Amino acid sequence: MKLTNQREEIISYLQRTRSHPDASEVYNKVKKKLPRISLGTVYRNLDFLAKQNTIEKINMENYEKYDGNSEIHDHLICTNCHSIEDIPKLKLNLKNFEPKKVNIFGLCEKCNK
Ligand SMILES: [Zn+2]
Ligand SMILES: [Zn+2]
Repeated sequence: MKLTNQREEIISYLQRTRSHPDASEVYNKVKKKLPRISLGTVYRNLDFLAKQNTIEKINMENYEKYDGNSEIHDHLICTNCHSIEDIPKLKLNLKNFEPKKVNIFGLCEKCNK
């Protein structure tokens, strides 16, 4: 029962935010409602949900972020501040190759100044 609550709380937070938080941000948010939850539990649930494709795990070189936006979309990822912005799915002509997800790495507006 408790596990389900924790999982639901994590899903509902990820579906409400568009900030693509990392595990510790998810932990800090969910902890406000479920004070007894541990960071390890949050990690385990995030892994589980990503494997089930309920959420998306965005793997970077040395960090991971999580996305609960279930609409099909692509990403602009800033390599400097690690912010991630959702953009509508790109229409690319790639010789019948069907890209599932396009992550474009670069500098966001703020970091590019
Ligand atoms: Zn940036
Ligand atoms: Zn996204």
